[in-house]
Amino acid sequence: MNAHEKIVIGYLLHPRGYCFGVKRTVDMLDQVLKLYKSVYVIEDIVHSKLFMDNALARGIIKVHSINDVPDGSAIMFSSRGISQKTLKKADEKQLTVIDATCPVVKKLQEEVIDKAGEGYVVIIIGNRAHQQIATLLGSIDSDDVYVVNSEMDIDLLPSFDGRKVAYFTQTSLFPGDIRKITDALKSKIPDIIHGRPDTEHDVCAETLDRQAVIAEIAPTIDLLLVLGASYSANAMSLVRCGLSNNIKNVIRIDSREGIQKDILNGINSFALISSTSVDEPVIKDIENSLQNLAGIEYIIYPEIEGQQALA
Ligand code: SF4
Repeated sequence: MNAHEKIVIGYLLHPRGYCFGVKRTVDMLDQVLKLYKSVYVIEDIVHSKLFMDNALARGIIKVHSINDVPDGSAIMFSSRGISQKTLKKADEKQLTVIDATCPVVKKLQEEVIDKAGEGYVVIIIGNRAHQQIATLLGSIDSDDVYVVNSEMDIDLLPSFDGRKVAYFTQTSLFPGDIRKITDALKSKIPDIIHGRPDTEHDVCAETLDRQAVIAEIAPTIDLLLVLGASYSANAMSLVRCGLSNNIKNVIRIDSREGIQKDILNGINSFALISSTSVDEPVIKDIENSLQNLAGIEYIIYPEIEGQQALA
């Protein structure tokens, strides 16, 4: 950097890196690979191509469905859960199940099952294609379960006159988006309740904390860099949060390959945050790559005790 080069301020937002649910999965995998030569998975156990490439090299075998897993093998499920139907199938095939379901997701699953058991119509706000929702659907023994992801989905719901109706939400959404859907639900079904008393959604604390720090820094920055996969609900919620807080530029990248040479052109200050499926070394790699493009003064945000350990 020469003496006249402009210094860009880069806020390193915390929390970042793996959430406790993903960290637990990663730790379990390390243990499991010591016990079994090969372990089957039917979805990415961590939403990170880098992680999965590494896991495949270490003995993980990814298959399309549980039917493709040889009888008697070991199978691992991610923090996003495992349905009762799948567990039954695993039992039939005498598979050793390694269940890394996040405790937050497991609790939600139990509460949804309870509510359906109490005779409620259950409406789940979330993405039907997401494993967490597929798991819920595969665990509830009721036809009265609906998934909505937009106001248009709500228009398609039947009438529930005279029925008790409760809603739950995916744990990795942006509450601003949830609110639009719950407002529309309440105008169609005035007596609908959230399945858990005293809360309005089921978004986990790990997700909310990251969104809160984005909202706080938003007026200070002109670029938010979100590190995470496009198929990570958590990463996309951080993007949604940045846009909703009127940050001028919000860019999601998976890795250093996603960094365009001109990404910091015209930028005075930016913030970097990661989704819950990104490991710390990947974030460090991004920080270093950005420093090759411009003079950057990094600031840990919020300033917290023990920041040396984070730096
Ligand atoms: S994002 Fe939240 S719910 Fe999902 S694995 Fe992490 S802690 Fe659990």
